[in-house]
Amino acid sequence: MSSERDVMEYDVVTVGAGPAGLAFAIRLKQLKPELSVCVIEKASTIGAHILSGAVIETGPLDELLPNWRKAPPPICVPANQDEFWFLSKTGGFKFPVVPPQMNNHGNVIVSLGALCAWLAPQAEALGVEIYPGFAAAAPLFDEHHAVCGVRIGDMGVAKDGSHKPGYTQGIDIKAKITVLGEGARGHLTKDLVRKYDLDRDADPQSYSIGIKELWQVRTGVCEPGKIVHTMGWPADPKTYGGSFLYHLDKDRIALGYVSGLDYQDPNYQPYEAFQQWKNHPSVKSLLEGGTILSAGARAIVTGGYQSLPKLEMPGALLIGDAAGLLNVPKIKGTHQAMRSGMMAAEHIAAHGTSVGWDATLRASSVMKELKKVRNFKPGFKKGRLFGLINSGWETITAGLSPWTMKVSADYSSLQKLDVAGSAALERPKRDYLERTLAPRDRLAGVYFAATEHDEDQPVHLRVSDTDICITTCATEYGNPCTRFCPAGVYEMVKDDNGPRLQINAANCVHCKTCDIKDPYQIIDWVTPEGGAGPNYQNL
Ligand SMILES: Cc1cc2nc3c(=O)[nH]c(=O)nc-3n(C[C@H](O)[C@H](O)[C@H](O)COP(=O)(O)OP(=O)(O)OC[C@H]3O[C@@H](n4cnc5c(N)ncnc54)[C@H](O)[C@@H]3O)c2cc1C
Ligand code: SF4
Repeated sequence: MSSERDVMEYDVVTVGAGPAGLAFAIRLKQLKPELSVCVIEKASTIGAHILSGAVIETGPLDELLPNWRKAPPPICVPANQDEFWFLSKTGGFKFPVVPPQMNNHGNVIVSLGALCAWLAPQAEALGVEIYPGFAAAAPLFDEHHAVCGVRIGDMGVAKDGSHKPGYTQGIDIKAKITVLGEGARGHLTKDLVRKYDLDRDADPQSYSIGIKELWQVRTGVCEPGKIVHTMGWPADPKTYGGSFLYHLDKDRIALGYVSGLDYQDPNYQPYEAFQQWKNHPSVKSLLEGGTILSAGARAIVTGGYQSLPKLEMPGALLIGDAAGLLNVPKIKGTHQAMRSGMMAAEHIAAHGTSVGWDATLRASSVMKELKKVRNFKPGFKKGRLFGLINSGWETITAGLSPWTMKVSADYSSLQKLDVAGSAALERPKRDYLERTLAPRDRLAGVYFAATEHDEDQPVHLRVSDTDICITTCATEYGNPCTRFCPAGVYEMVKDDNGPRLQINAANCVHCKTCDIKDPYQIIDWVTPEGGAGPNYQNL
């Protein structure tokens, strides 16, 4: 039975109500109130899928909403102290000076999810239509192969593809211009980059995974405004890893651990590295006696300057992390996301088309900032010591080195198990601690993400060939998906028919790590039903 889909038409549709998408929509309405603008968001409420640090630079916010400080977002603590530590297993030392990229004087610590929930009504007050619970499942194309909007995923489809009683066909949202602000490893963005060959002249994109918890700590422990970053233990010298610890107000501390997804050891477990770091004496002493309020994980885009795809295609353009604009040494992408969103709005207001956006962004301060730091992260591919020396050089020369280091795809960096076991790769000795702090394991951790997916819906983690999992991958890499997923979604189980991959899709927190790191690139993360996924509180 076929039926005509409902269609809604706008001048502009924005996919993703993150800082990029919301700053874009606000700016466009400020400049051209007569345009119809809608923002669609896959989370059930605005901000519920956003996970960040987050210490943010406020420049773009000052320009977008000059009076924002009179009614600031619900969590907004001025940064007042920066520390940078190198950790060993039982101790560590504080660097006498904080690298300039990590100087947060003038910045504020926020919950980015709460900031987006605070931005949304301000966009609506200008006439932007915002639809949470709407997952853009596919782009729409016109007769000239230009993007002309997005199709929202159907609701009420059972696991076997049949229609359940509440079945509702997803609507088509048609627009003259589609703006992709899906964040790191966007699902539509990935397809469109491929379709239009947008990364033809760029290095492959690269990512890290950030795993975060928000803690309510004992009274007197928290020092609001204090910012601590660490490197060293538990990361081995070949693995890019580091932590953040941001002291908020009301006895709350936001903390997380970032692992570069270009790690080599197939046995590495980003979630375990995070939990180990929490149990380091310097961190544990802050957390003991406290409780976890919320937790989750999200990919961070780190390829930067060299990996920037072309940012426009017929009918559509990329902004924010979907474009790959994060500044790695600062671990900051929010100001770049907002700035690119605002600039894209100015471009559309002036020209009414996506044509020329790529050149505009490349000529801007956003690109200048990326160019300056382009060699920081690739330097760590040669190990921590080289990475640190190289970072010092790049800082002193302000990025004026006459060379640009290459970025490679994260899935290609995994060493096969037989190599890892031989002398070719010195398998890192993990030297881990006995952990005592909650959560016990990944499943216990997922509870704090409050993630929800109707179990009776098509699995949104599409594995194109599960035979590889039980044959080649089991032998070559020992099924790394069972270790890199922070939510324990992938399991190898054995039944009467032998081993098979079990996908516990309901636990997924939409971090996108599997889509990025799977060594055979056979996992495709697609949008589940709108509204499904984590329900982060203040992450
Ligand atoms: C652990 C961690 C720590 C960080 N720390 C900092 C920091 O301290 N300071 C800083 O400035 N930056 C930090 N960042 C980076 C910062 O969070 C990002 O740069 C920023 O969020 C990018 O904004 P965005 O709007 O481009 O994407 P996002 O914030 O990712 O927003 C994208 C939105 O689009 C929605 N979406 C995606 N796909 C679809 C779809 N198909 N249909 C509908 N909706 C969709 C998502 O649900 C989400 O709400 C950190 C990131 C992480 C992961
Ligand atoms: S299944 Fe993939 S996207 Fe979902 S939580 Fe695991 S790694 Fe992240």
